[in-house]
Parts: sequence; structure tokens; C-alpha cells
Amino acid sequence: MWVGLVVLCLSLPAGAQPASPAVVVNGRTPSLDPPPVFRAGVLLAPLEGLVEPYGASSRWDPLTRTAQVVGPRGTRLVFRAGDRVALVDGEPRVLPVAPELAGGKLLVPAEFLFRALGAWVKWEPTEGTLHVVSQVLRLVLDRAPGGLRLQVEATGPVEVRTAVLSQPDRLVVDLVNAASRIETREVSLGEFGVRRVRVAQFQVKPYVTRVVLDLDAPLDVEVVSGPPEVVLRLLPRAPSAAATGPPASPPAFSPPAASPDPAATSPDPQTVPPVSSPAPPAGPDVPRILGLSLERQVGRVRVVVQADRPLEFQVKELPDPDRLVLDIPGVFVPVKQELAVGGPVEVVRAAQFQTDPDVARVVVQWQARTRYEVQLEDGGSRLVVVVDELPAPPPRTGHVVAIDPGHGGKDPGAIGATGLVEKDVVLDIGLRLRDVLRGQGVRTVMTREADVFVDLADRVPIALRAGATVFVSVHANATTRGVIRGLETYYLKPNSVQLATWIQEELGRLGIPDRGIRTANFKVLRDSPIPAVLVEVGYLTNLEDEALLRTAAFRQRVAEAIARGVVRFIRHVPALQP
Ligand SMILES: [Zn+2]
Repeated sequence: MWVGLVVLCLSLPAGAQPASPAVVVNGRTPSLDPPPVFRAGVLLAPLEGLVEPYGASSRWDPLTRTAQVVGPRGTRLVFRAGDRVALVDGEPRVLPVAPELAGGKLLVPAEFLFRALGAWVKWEPTEGTLHVVSQVLRLVLDRAPGGLRLQVEATGPVEVRTAVLSQPDRLVVDLVNAASRIETREVSLGEFGVRRVRVAQFQVKPYVTRVVLDLDAPLDVEVVSGPPEVVLRLLPRAPSAAATGPPASPPAFSPPAASPDPAATSPDPQTVPPVSSPAPPAGPDVPRILGLSLERQVGRVRVVVQADRPLEFQVKELPDPDRLVLDIPGVFVPVKQELAVGGPVEVVRAAQFQTDPDVARVVVQWQARTRYEVQLEDGGSRLVVVVDELPAPPPRTGHVVAIDPGHGGKDPGAIGATGLVEKDVVLDIGLRLRDVLRGQGVRTVMTREADVFVDLADRVPIALRAGATVFVSVHANATTRGVIRGLETYYLKPNSVQLATWIQEELGRLGIPDRGIRTANFKVLRDSPIPAVLVEVGYLTNLEDEALLRTAAFRQRVAEAIARGVVRFIRHVPALQP
């Protein structure tokens, strides 16, 4: 809403602020000197002593008045006293408040700091405590000499406790001081003697992520290496003399593609049955592709191309649509096959690409490109594409997208029909938009990342200082006529028409009224020398729009739609520095 600045309360502290707030990092409470303080509702804490329990280090340079923090996974942060722009791996990010010096120590916004290092961060108002723990990103289960290897990828240190339980046989791995960021909760495996892997947030404070492996036979466990990457070796408990087997197939485990879990009574949505071709017709003795199938591991998807004998292959990457092409010479595909995957891969297809000579082609079409590996298994007759579930690291483009969530702090913006507040909705959408763009390798800068007041006149300068080449302001609308609803995108200058058009085109697909692109003399659009739009994500005064905006699912869809429009723009329009 831009009808005017609504100032409801002038000096409301952001919630009840305790006299002596504390920070708990991975279960430890570092003694901080000077103690943490609040500035404009933001907790500032001295770097010294704060980051070590998270496996990070910090160095203060009094000459440049800057502090550098190196995280456990190599993330580099630079903070400067009095400067609201920090660097995260060289990229400018706007801080909710500037770091300040006290007693020769640099105090920085603690929540920002730990989020930038990948931590799970939660402020507990009743305790007056900021809780910080490592996040578990990925679990990978692999064969290893004599047994199995369970690799835990976390953003910071985690403590590991294991227990081998029987009846039924299972291995419980507790990751202490770890919040789970793994979306796939349960995977049926039927490989390596592991029937199923389950992951859950077992408890909070202390945060424990529990991983349970349901086993065919008991195992022995050994923790091999420490944080931030933990590796566990799982060895078959030798019941007889057959203790040492060949590395590739430990004897105590059932072979790959074992019979399905007999205990499973209901179909598991994660288990995708292999798509098998009918029996190959009798014909010349050429190698054949027998089928495509999927195997889901926690954090990864394996696309398996099963042939009747060893294969060779070549990999190519092709654009529009973004896909991976595996050409397999000398091989025949009796029946064209297709497998919907979901997640990072949309679909996998196998078909005859050419005959005489025969070339079979397997296409892995990306939904969102991620890291992948192609490997041959079982003597070469299984071609496996292993795809990460996490987004790919960012490729660089010349563009930096400024995201400007409207209002904030003392300025709530519009208030919805049943009380939804504009500043909260647009901040949430703005942060989602940032995450979606970053996930696609687009550099971003936020004019605010928290519920803080940022003067209208400061918003474009913040963006420009951070090198922004595109400016996207996010607002929600209000009107006295409650029947009006829908999405609209505003622009002012000719350099912004295309951006507005493409964003609105995407918003128009969300299935709520498309109110088109419009022009308006808003200050941020007027101030901006770079392409700039202001998106109104719905009418808070309309009950239907407000109800939609209350759901995280809709806010995510709006963020993704805006991101698609922005990405289209930055792919087609070169970045021009103002
Ligand atoms: Zn507004």
C-alpha cells in the first residue's frame, strides 16, 4: 500500500527485550564481553568468543575497522564498524543494523551472522535467548570397503551418538546440536542390507536430528571423521568366519535390488517401481536397455539405466530445456521409456536415437539443475546418474537483483480485513524471492531482511550501493472496496516495461485475477535509474486474497512467479551499471 505512511506507534520496542539476552551456540553459552545488546530490536553480540562453538573463527583488524569471519565450511563474512553493508563470500548484504564497536570489540547482528553461516537460528523471547545450531543438509549412504559409509553433511559441528538396537535390527544415529533441513523424511532403500532410512527432528533444545536405519542384519558402527562432515563406517557384525568379503559386495548384505521389505504393508510413496520393458523381441544379439528406475536416497536421487551387459556412454549438456543427454553407442532400446521423477529432475526418457549404427539416448530433463555424477556399476551394466536434491551453486551473471519488501518496523503498511499486516507478508515473500533467485545463481541484495524501518528515501540508495542492476519492490494492496482483488505490477520508466510485463505474465498464471501492468509515480520507481518495478501481491482488504496470503504455499508461489519474471528479464537484458 502506498496511500500514505501510516505511523501507529512511534517507539515500540520489538517485543519484550530482556535486560541480559544470551546466545546459545551448539548447546554452549559463550561468556561474551561486552554482553549482547539490542539496537532497534536487533541483537548485537561481540564476535570474539561467539563464533568458535560453531566451528568458525574471527579476526579483527583495527586499522580498517573490519572483522573477517571464516565459517566451518569456508564461508567468508566481512563486517565493518558503522557500515550497514556486510560481505558474504564477496557479495554485499544489507544488515538490519550496523555493527558497532564497544570496548575495542566489534558487535555484529548475531542472527544475520549465524544465518549467513548456514545455521538454524531461533529467538526464544521467554528465555531471552538466541539459539543457534548446525543444520543437517544431506545424508549419503554408500558402499565402502567391507561395509557401508554414512556421510552426514552439516553446516557446522554436530555431535554424533549411535546405538545399535535389535528386534527389529536397526541403527539409531543421533546428531546432537543439529536441526534437520532434509525434506525427504523416509526412504525405502532395499539395498546394502538397509531396508529404510528415516530422518526426523527428534527433539529441540537441545536440537537432535535422529536418523534410523532399519536393517536386515545387525551392524557395527565406527565414527571415522569429525565436523562439519561426519562419516560413519558401518560394518557387518561377523556371525561366522565370513568376515572379510570383496570390497564391492560385502557378504553380510543382500545384493542390490533386493526383494522388497516384507514388513511393508502399505505402498511407500518414495518407492518408485521400475519401469520395465516387455520381454525384448527375439532378434539380432545387440545389447539392450532393459529398463529405467529410480532409487531415492536421503538427499539424492539415483536414475538407473539397466542394460543386459556392460555399456559405454557419452554425456552432453543441452539447453532449452536444460537437460543432460547420455548417448550409448551400440545399444538398442526395445520400447521407448519415460519416467516422471519430481524434485530437481522433471523427467527421464530413454529411446533409440539412431539405428545403423545403433545409438540409444537417455535424456535427464532438469526441473532445477543441481550437481550430478554419472557412474557405471555392476561391471558396467548399470548406468547411474546420481543427482543432488539441493540446488546447484550459483553461476555468475552480471546482474544483482535488489529486493525491497515494503514498510517495516514502525510502519506496518496496510492492515488486512482480518488483521494480516502488509509489512510481514511482503517481508516473507521478499525473503522467499531472495532464496528462489539465489537457488538459481542470481545475486541479490535486500533493502531489509527483518522487521525494521527503512526510510523510503534510503531504499534505492541501499540497492545501488550494493551494485543492484534490477529493483523489485514488494507490496500488498488495500482499498476501501473489499471486492477488488488480484495482482498487479507497477513501473514508471521505459527501461522497466519489459521487466513489469514478464513478472506480471508469471503472476497472471497463479489463478487469481490478473490486474495487469500499470504505471504510477511511486518514489522508489522515480528514484531508480535501473529497471524497477513495484509488485502488489494482492489486496489485503479482500478476504480471499488475504486468506491466500496467509498461507506459506501461496506466498511461495508468488515468490516463484516473480522470480521467473526476473530471471527471464536478466537472461535477456544485459546488466547496465547505473
Ligand atoms: Zn505498501
